[in-house]
Amino acid sequence: MSEWIPRTELGKLAAKGEITLDGIFTQGKKIKEAGIIDTLIPNLQTDIIFIGGSPGKGGGIMRTPTRRTARMHRSGRRYRTQAMVIAGNGDGYIGIGMSESVENRKAIEKATEAAKLNIMPVRRGCGSWECACGEPHTIPYEVEGKAGSVRVKLIPAPKGIGLCINDEAKKVMRIAGIKDIWSKCYGSSKTRNNYALALFDAFRKINKMRTEAKKNHDEVEEENTEVEM
Ligand SMILES: [Zn+2]
Repeated sequence: MSEWIPRTELGKLAAKGEITLDGIFTQGKKIKEAGIIDTLIPNLQTDIIFIGGSPGKGGGIMRTPTRRTARMHRSGRRYRTQAMVIAGNGDGYIGIGMSESVENRKAIEKATEAAKLNIMPVRRGCGSWECACGEPHTIPYEVEGKAGSVRVKLIPAPKGIGLCINDEAKKVMRIAGIKDIWSKCYGSSKTRNNYALALFDAFRKINKMRTEAKKNHDEVEEENTEVEM
């Protein structure tokens, strides 16, 4: 691997050890170089979301890591491979990337780089009223994520319940650092890429919730003041 030469201001700060991952997101900065993630998450965890499928023996679909797409061309069919990769630190940070290439290996490599640039914090907590241990083992609130025709509801679960969700989503939860969760899925879960994207939509919504809850609270207070006047 060749040595990383940072090109952006943020990259230079990361290379000098002058900014942390938390710092990047509290300052609302955008990561434009994968080297920043390689530096700040030295023990990066990655996994492949199985988006492909081929008819298996005795019916059903056999899941495969990549999806082959065909396009008609003057000289015949042109095949390409799509891959979806997740990357994170296993402890509150995760990103997702999708890419396409003529080669399997290349598609996975490009998707991994894209996932690094999409890394975001995942808010965790003990959102389960049955648990109240106060540790960040699940999500803080119930939330619903959407992508295409897929909707996924994530529900905080008490400690020790584990990941009550399908195998592809388990990969996402493990890298995000979520240990206990309940879930419901609506719509066609055949489209695995949309299913994974719906999970990330849910994470993004949780991240927004705190600020919106605070905003609403402030608005209510303002209204109350007006009533008093
Ligand atoms: Zn708990």
